[in-house]
Amino acid sequence: MTTQISSFVNGAYVNDASASVFQNINPATGKVICSVEAATPATLDAAIQSSLKAFKVWSKMPAIERSRRLLKAVEILRNRNDELALIEVEDTGKPWSEASTVDVVTGADSIEYFAGLAPTQVGTQQALGNDFFYTRQEPLGVVAGIGAWNYPLQIACWKAAPALAAGNVIVFKPSEETPRGALKLAEVFIEAGIPEGVFNVVQGDGKVGEWLTQHPNIAKVSFTGEVNTGCKVMAASSKTLKSVTMELGGKSPLIIFDDADLEQAVIASMLANFYTQGEVCTHGTRVFVQSGIYQRFVERLQDSIKTLKVGDPLNPDTHIGALISSSHMEKVLDYIRIGVEEGAHLLSGGRRVDHFECKNGYFVEPTVFTHCSDDMRICQEEIFGPVMSILCFDSEEEVIKRANNTGFGLAAGVFTQNIQKGHRVIHQIEAGICWINQYGASPAEMPVGGYKMSGVGRENGLETLGHYTQTKSIYVGIDPIESPYI
Ligand code: NAP
Repeated sequence: MTTQISSFVNGAYVNDASASVFQNINPATGKVICSVEAATPATLDAAIQSSLKAFKVWSKMPAIERSRRLLKAVEILRNRNDELALIEVEDTGKPWSEASTVDVVTGADSIEYFAGLAPTQVGTQQALGNDFFYTRQEPLGVVAGIGAWNYPLQIACWKAAPALAAGNVIVFKPSEETPRGALKLAEVFIEAGIPEGVFNVVQGDGKVGEWLTQHPNIAKVSFTGEVNTGCKVMAASSKTLKSVTMELGGKSPLIIFDDADLEQAVIASMLANFYTQGEVCTHGTRVFVQSGIYQRFVERLQDSIKTLKVGDPLNPDTHIGALISSSHMEKVLDYIRIGVEEGAHLLSGGRRVDHFECKNGYFVEPTVFTHCSDDMRICQEEIFGPVMSILCFDSEEEVIKRANNTGFGLAAGVFTQNIQKGHRVIHQIEAGICWINQYGASPAEMPVGGYKMSGVGRENGLETLGHYTQTKSIYVGIDPIESPYI
């Protein structure tokens, strides 16, 4: 018999006999992991009521005490790393080698970072003659967090960290593809002494997300997902003037100049396309290679790809796991067909992997196209799978123009051993998350978010705390009021 999980409201799992149920599938095996009770209207109402009650307690708690409890949660997360990583592997299909070293670790890092910042928030005070004013940084209230499926626990942590540190509470809706990571975080917060209702989790599909974006008691929506969904979320949030953070998709350029360290550039291009089987928003899927290094780069890449192992995500040697669902795998395979039809040259990969350990899962070979042109759909649209498109360029000016010729603006990378050129080029790229001679590193200290259609606001980094507070100005009269009337 499969187990059934549900929403987590006010410190406990909620069961509602009238709830509809959906299945959580392991994408590596096609097998049902558990069934999930979708939040009913009664559960959603209970989540809002519990959040409003919890906000009164949590927002009044001294920041240093909030910090202590968040740090306790960090300790528990790190102690339970392997148990939580296993859930991420089963729910997402990503390799154990990644989940056990990155997903829980980077989630905990973000909570640790913002826990440290919580007691540092200060207001200002300014004299105005004898009168003066002062300001307070106050939390917003109830925040809705809506997550994507590629980094379920990490996304929940990255949204909870600044929100909770600043004194807000959260109702979090995970993707229906990956319902368990956020529930585990909710359990950890309770164990760490964070009051009931500070972090509620509601299960369900996009309709549950939509309900949250329309609710008058939600002050802010922090969303991670596709651009089209982000536009809908922003439009719905505008009806009640909620503030929004939008972490959306990308089609980022990775630019490799002739003078780049070849080995490093090849490693980066593989990380920037095949990490998490290509399901990373910041991936550098348009790899621009300068003509002088082009041939050597392609040959070295072709050799390196042969070392990649696609297979059972639980095998510690596996590099490339399963895509999130059968429909997503079909979408990725469709894009590969489109690439071939558009005239790109399939250098390697391109097929579904269905050898014995992969036969019931949704695996796709690491795929590389050469002879790509900027107007091909594979170079314009986010594929979100292990598909790299290589484009050749001649001059610095040309590549900057071509790299910016997209509606997205999430990330970018430049490889060169000329330090001036590295900075000069990256300063002209329209993207929010950039790397020079690196790709993908995203420490909690560094703000991340998109330009153009890739996002609004930031996650992580110092400035993000400010996105979860509002400024109250308080004028204090010392001198008597001079009446204009008498
Ligand atoms: P998605 O389809 O946009 O869904 C994201 C979340 O929104 C899910 O929880 C989804 O619920 C929910 N949702 C769907 N319709 C909604 C609506 N009308 N109102 C409110 N919520 C709604 O994205 P995805 O396929 O899960 O994730 C992949 C995308 O996320 C990619 O584009 C990727 O680039 C992006 N991403 C961006 C970042 C970043 O930091 N910039 C990080 C990770 C991923 P259900 O799925 O349960 O229906």
